[in-house]
Amino acid sequence: MTDIRTQAVHAGERPDPVTGAIATGIAQTTAFAYGTLDHGAALFSQEADGWTYSRWGNPTTAALQAKLAALEGGEAAAVFGAGTAATSALVLGMVQPGEEIAFLGPLYGGTESFFRGLAQRLGIRVAAISDGDLVAGLSDATRLLWIETPTNPTLRLHDLRAIATVAREKGVLTVADNTFSTPCLTRPLEHGIDLVTHSMTKYIGGHGDAIGGAVVGPERLLAPIRQVGFNHLGGSLAPHAAYLFLRGLKTLPLRMAAHCEGATRVASFLVGHSAVRQVFYPGLPGHPGHALARRQMTGGFGGIVSFELKRPGRAAAAAFLDSLEVFVQAVSLGDVGSLACHPASTTHSFISAEARAEQGICDELIRLSVGIEHSDDLIADLDQALGRVARTAAPAAAPASAEQLT
Ligand SMILES: *Cc1c(COP(=O)(O)O)cnc(C)c1O
Repeated sequence: MTDIRTQAVHAGERPDPVTGAIATGIAQTTAFAYGTLDHGAALFSQEADGWTYSRWGNPTTAALQAKLAALEGGEAAAVFGAGTAATSALVLGMVQPGEEIAFLGPLYGGTESFFRGLAQRLGIRVAAISDGDLVAGLSDATRLLWIETPTNPTLRLHDLRAIATVAREKGVLTVADNTFSTPCLTRPLEHGIDLVTHSMTKYIGGHGDAIGGAVVGPERLLAPIRQVGFNHLGGSLAPHAAYLFLRGLKTLPLRMAAHCEGATRVASFLVGHSAVRQVFYPGLPGHPGHALARRQMTGGFGGIVSFELKRPGRAAAAAFLDSLEVFVQAVSLGDVGSLACHPASTTHSFISAEARAEQGICDELIRLSVGIEHSDDLIADLDQALGRVARTAAPAAAPASAEQLT
């Protein structure tokens, strides 16, 4: 079982030995009867293997964990009730007060706000560093280095192997949030990264109907993450949601191939359009991370395409977005259906205007999550909406200041 398409279907699952059911069942239960007190005691002291209570472990979530570990090439996985719960369990399980988390931005807004919010409040230090001064940016206090593959929403790429090498020399653990790439396109553990996280809410679920998260890596690192995440924070994934993610994973490789193909066509269409100033997609030869993407990503460049409209201001972005008929305006991403959003007003509205400017998130920026619909229909939709932008009145010229008048 070496091909990812085979693993996606079979890893972690097999027909039920008692009933013969070919689909993994939803073990919709809180606790598991242990029969005799002696057996119960053996389960709790971990002398015997088995289930006790679903916050700590459940057959459906265990099947999902085994499948995810196989797909990422990791030893084990732990699944949580949200990507955000995976992040907080990882940080609070691994980092002590006084130690530091370093990150290469930009990051998913919720991750950065957790670092700068609760984590700092509990005495964990936080440092934003840049690829250029990685060596200087990691100190003796640095415990974790956090990155995303690629970053949201402008799809910058970090060199995983180079980062893992530097961090390992300094004794720093590396974490890659692999939500955007999924194991179909990038397997960070193979590049030397220590732990992978996911918001399964996005591509892994793929159908916009379940929230969940995961951490994948070696068992020795996962043990404290589970202890904090399940026992103290209670962020365990419910069995029904685990079933939806197991089901989603079976078609992940097929869906990712369709997302990549559609996004490539959409990106090429946008590049040639007169209403578009700039397109961000790692598959475009002009993208600053293109050469790295060719080395680091396999099978495609992902399903997210961001671009800037030429016409300045939020009104033009609204005219475009409000005209879309196939794309749905919503945050989130990775669904079979195409989604569009205005990061400055939604996903990145909680960070300061200066931070937005630093990350290149202007009023003209649009993020598309390209679904698996036929790309001709998507392109026709984008084309008619871009046409509307051209027909909206140009914004009134900014009133000249007194100085300019004199
Ligand atoms: C959505 C997202 C998260 C947070 O996941 P939730 O499931 O919404 O808690 C974390 N990282 C990235 C890159 C995301 O896109």
